[in-house]
Amino acid sequence: MSLFEYAPAPESRSIVDIRPSYGLFLDGEFTAGTGTPRKTVNPATEEVLAEVATGSDEDVDRAVRAARRAFVKTWGPMRPADRGKYLFRIARLLQERAREFAVLETLDNGKPIRESRDVDVPLAAAHFFYHAGWADKLEHAGLGPAPRPLGVAGQVIPWNFPLLMLAWKVAPALATGNTVVLKPAETTPLTALLFAEICQQADLPPGVVNIVTGAGDTGRAVISHPDVDKVAFTGSTEVGRSIARAVAGTDKRLSLELGGKAANIVFDDAPIDQAVEGIVRGIFFNQGHVCCAGSRLLVQESVHDDVVAALQRRIGTLRVGNPMDKNTDLGAINSPEQLARIRELTAFGETEGATCWQPAGDLPAKGYWFKPTVFTDVSPAHRIARDEVFGPVLSVLTFRTPDEAVAKANNTTYGLSAGIWSEKGSRILKIADQLRAGVVWANTFNEFDPTAPFGGYKQSGYGREGGRQGLAAYLEASK
Ligand code: NDP
Repeated sequence: MSLFEYAPAPESRSIVDIRPSYGLFLDGEFTAGTGTPRKTVNPATEEVLAEVATGSDEDVDRAVRAARRAFVKTWGPMRPADRGKYLFRIARLLQERAREFAVLETLDNGKPIRESRDVDVPLAAAHFFYHAGWADKLEHAGLGPAPRPLGVAGQVIPWNFPLLMLAWKVAPALATGNTVVLKPAETTPLTALLFAEICQQADLPPGVVNIVTGAGDTGRAVISHPDVDKVAFTGSTEVGRSIARAVAGTDKRLSLELGGKAANIVFDDAPIDQAVEGIVRGIFFNQGHVCCAGSRLLVQESVHDDVVAALQRRIGTLRVGNPMDKNTDLGAINSPEQLARIRELTAFGETEGATCWQPAGDLPAKGYWFKPTVFTDVSPAHRIARDEVFGPVLSVLTFRTPDEAVAKANNTTYGLSAGIWSEKGSRILKIADQLRAGVVWANTFNEFDPTAPFGGYKQSGYGREGGRQGLAAYLEASK
């Protein structure tokens, strides 16, 4: 039983007006799709929220043609400072309608309203503000005096941060003068469709942003369309590989942001309570549906028992349940498919000999839920130490020396992120240098900023998003 009980504090959903059905956003207008529509569901309640169109090959072709026209006729020739004004306008509209976006994101995705309100939506707006500033300063991007846009960008995004991943993709593409055909994930299309309304509200010229909803087949049609110049994908390593194969041999440019299995390394001199907060944030933020989640905790052996005990105490206070409640820490798993995958991988953990711990308490009867879970006695060979679970599941391993910590941290096919907890700055810098990870956090975890490039090594993909480096994915260098 927890010491304090919180009274319910549900956010009202009345601010959003969810339509019964949505079409595709092509050439500045909503239009019916020619594929079979799909229903999108609130994963916390299993309630159907809306019916959403599916884009066929033909619809994708219409979208790409609209994007090409806009690239040639309006967006490409536009003065860069004017493009910047549109991006500023979009950023401000996102801020003005922030609460609406947060509520809709939480309903469609299952993430706690606290996170969509305080992280996803403000960061999405920040990406537009940041890139708006770049629009007329591209000669300083490090790509020569007059870098050129690539043309039409085909972008496919996942369900874990639907609006934020849209912002990561659309903002740099537009700031650099490209036009966009974006495919949101099948289970979370609603905030992308609300973003389409923002594009209309901002008077963005038709065809600059096109949003084609649908499943994997629609994504495949986007990335393989012959008139797409640039492909940007975030999602699973498996689909990323198939996209790399599809793009190979064409002159399309490609950036991939794929999975991860980040090490969060706690040294014996780390402030334990602070580290525990960082471990919790590292793995339970967004139900662990985070490519850079700190899913492998590496603890120095001498403090293992203290850290695990403090961690379990802390996890016991996490509130799992109604994502619309402002006190909720862990929301719903996004889909039954993802829940099945989490269950399958955690079952491997137990059969392979690791020890599973979960806090007491019941989960809601309806919806898709998984308790925060900690595995101890994990060896590096276990599947839960190697495979991306993409859920609220932490694997705890130990190390004795800094060299062993580095060797274990790098013993992964991924290389997206890592964390280091230590009181010694010199140690942090030395270890960070040796980690093969695109982002290394020191005494914190899961901090994001549009000015900081994000991306991976090895099977976590290639290319960077954010910062000056992220612009290179959408520009051709000039001499
Ligand atoms: P996917 O990689 O399948 O989905 C990402 C996006 O790609 C979605 O929009 C999806 O469409 C689309 N897509 C699927 N197949 C193709 C294809 N052949 N060509 C083009 N686009 C395609 O991830 P899942 O949602 O299936 O999740 C599976 C696993 O992937 C998770 O368990 C997790 O481990 C990992 N994952 C990692 C993410 C990360 O950021 N690193 C993000 C999401 C998942 P649709 O979903 O509509 O079918």
